[in-house]
Amino acid sequence: MLSIQNLYKQFGSLVAVNNLELSVAPGETVVIMGPSGCGKSTTIRMINRLIEPDQGAVMFDNVDITRLDDAGLRTMRKRIGYVFQQFNLISRLSAIENVMLGLVMGGQSKEEAYGKALAALGKVGMEQAIDQKPGQLSGGQQQRVGIARALAFEPELMLWDEPTASLDPMLVREVLIVMEELAKYRAATMLVVTHEIAFALHVADRIVLMEKGAVVETGLPSQVFVEPASRVGRQYKELIE
Ligand code: ADP
Ligand code: MG
Repeated sequence: MLSIQNLYKQFGSLVAVNNLELSVAPGETVVIMGPSGCGKSTTIRMINRLIEPDQGAVMFDNVDITRLDDAGLRTMRKRIGYVFQQFNLISRLSAIENVMLGLVMGGQSKEEAYGKALAALGKVGMEQAIDQKPGQLSGGQQQRVGIARALAFEPELMLWDEPTASLDPMLVREVLIVMEELAKYRAATMLVVTHEIAFALHVADRIVLMEKGAVVETGLPSQVFVEPASRVGRQYKELIE
C-alpha cells in the first residue's frame, strides 16, 4: 500500500533521513521506534509532504506522492490522516466544530460534516463532550478529538507522530486504548511513531527501528524485542527486561 524508496532529506549539512526504505501492507499497523533525532518525524512528515523530500519516492496506491501537483496533493491528503503530538485544536471551536472544520473546508455540506464528525467522535468515545471547547477537555480528551478529526475523513492510511508524548502519564492510556481499537478493527493502515514499548509489543504487526536517518531493523515485535539484530534493538530489549 505504502512503499517508501530511497527517501532522503538534509537540513543544511545535517542528513536527517538517509536513503530510507520502508513498506507497509494494507491494514498493517507498523510502529517506528528509535532514539530522539534519528529522523522519525522527518520521515513521517515527508509522506504527506508536510516536509518536502530532497530525493526519493513515496508510492501510495501506485502514485508517487512526491510528484503530485498541488491539486493532486490536496486530494491525496484526504486519504492520509495525520495525528500530531501537539493536538493543534482551535480553542474557540467546540470539539465537533474542530472535527467538522476540515470536512467543510474540503467542500462538504455542514449537515454531512456534522454526521461524519459525530460518528468519528463516537469512535473515540467522545460523544458526550462534542460541544466542549478544548480548554474544557483533558489532554487525553483533546487528543481523542485530534484522532477523530483525522478519522472523520475515513483515511486509508493514518500517520501518528508520538500521539501520547505531550500527555500526562495518567492520560496516556485512554489514547493508547483508542489506537489499539483502531488497529484491531483495521480501521486504517497505521504507521505509528511512539516510545510506548508495551503498545509496540502488543499492538504492532511489525516494528521498524531507525538510527541516524535509516532503518536498521524490521520484524515482528516478538523477534525485534527478543532477538534483536541491531544495536537499537538490543537497547529496547534491555528496557523490557
Ligand atoms: P525524531 O523525530 O526521530 O526525533 P527528527 O526527524 O525530528 O527526529 O529530526 C531528525 C534530525 O533532523 C535531528 O537532528 C533534528 O535536529 C533535525 N531537524 C529536524 N527538523 C529540522 C529543521 N526544520 N531544521 C533543521 N534541522 C532539523
Ligand atoms: Mg519526532
